[in-house]
Amino acid sequence: MADTRLYDLLGVKPNASDAEIKKAYRKLAKEFHPDKNPEEGERFKEINFAYQILSDNEKREMYDKFGERGLREGMGGGGGFDEVFSHIFGGGGGGLFGGFGGFGGGRPHRRRRGEDLVHPLKVTLEDLYSGKASKLQLTKNVVCAQCKGAGGKAGAVRSCSNCNGRGIKVTIRHIGPGMVQQMQSACNVCKGEGEVINEKDKCKKCHGKKTVKENKILEVHVSKGMRDNQKITFDGEGDQEPGIDAGDVIIILQQKEHETFKRVRNDLYLEKDITLSEALCGFDMVITHLDKREIKIHCPPGKVIEPGCIRGVPGEGMPIYGRSTTNGNLYLRFNVTFPEKNFLDEEKLKELEKLLPPRPPGPTVGEDVEEVDLEDIDQAGASSDGRQRQVYEDGSDDEAAGHGPRVQCAHQ
Ligand SMILES: [Zn+2]
Ligand SMILES: [Zn+2]
Repeated sequence: MADTRLYDLLGVKPNASDAEIKKAYRKLAKEFHPDKNPEEGERFKEINFAYQILSDNEKREMYDKFGERGLREGMGGGGGFDEVFSHIFGGGGGGLFGGFGGFGGGRPHRRRRGEDLVHPLKVTLEDLYSGKASKLQLTKNVVCAQCKGAGGKAGAVRSCSNCNGRGIKVTIRHIGPGMVQQMQSACNVCKGEGEVINEKDKCKKCHGKKTVKENKILEVHVSKGMRDNQKITFDGEGDQEPGIDAGDVIIILQQKEHETFKRVRNDLYLEKDITLSEALCGFDMVITHLDKREIKIHCPPGKVIEPGCIRGVPGEGMPIYGRSTTNGNLYLRFNVTFPEKNFLDEEKLKELEKLLPPRPPGPTVGEDVEEVDLEDIDQAGASSDGRQRQVYEDGSDDEAAGHGPRVQCAHQ
């Protein structure tokens, strides 16, 4: 519980019994009664207010849970609360909460919650493959321990008299016969806080701000198979504020682009260059996986690899998040590098041709057909790298959409 100002006003502990509260109140009410102590009228009102809340089980519970701000915002006009305040402050204009729209009705309200703090966390594909524990340091506001979030010593925090503690100033404009317009704006005296503290009474630690900055280290466990943009939530680790629930700290994983592997959902893609000889006659190659394991990939002679084709290795993709034993697949996309120009003389080429599948029969054309030579022409106006790019996985599942890595391959 963060807000103990009302208990402090009566000089009792937050776990005080009803009898202790009553006793403390009687003593203070006598001491600060306007008849005896006309200078302390404000204090007397506050003591009465504290007692009104703390002597009522329901309201005390509400205050314990929601704090003073919660009382102001959560109770609205219903449940006779208005009466209490009118009585205490002698309000003639419909009581303290008259102007609060949207809350009334005496319904139970959800407790106000602080904002969530969102932090990106850069991770590598290796981290997502093997899992990793990261420490993340962040600075957050915590309720000041010295004043327990009151902002000053007991009784120092007063309800703002300019706005009657509402933080909002309501002005009524007459806009016609019998017609008024109600305008609301933040109170300029308390800057919308609803309360004021004298400079000299402000808590020395938090200077009346009720909260202080604190460094906090969060241990973020990146589990195997987590994805780019996946959220890891730390409940209630956000900024604290007296009387409200702290929001969450939300870590959003941001995967750095990997040099060689691309991830699409639970599969990994790798692009490899092989020579024409390897494509036709088979090969062995070793790839280093994300966990530094070496995998030898064997392609037997005769299993022809066409340029741009994709072959898979089952179970060597990403771990599947939440499942310990299954992995996606690893896919290799092969670029076949062809030999240089004139790598063989004409004689040898004729021999090579005999080994290759027969060429299709030449075309039959008329005598007047125009014959041209093929030339190497630098294609001005071709795409920047002279290669056409093709996406062969759309990566369009809900998590990867718009963010997920896309596998792109050169297509010659
Ligand atoms: Zn303080
Ligand atoms: Zn004010």
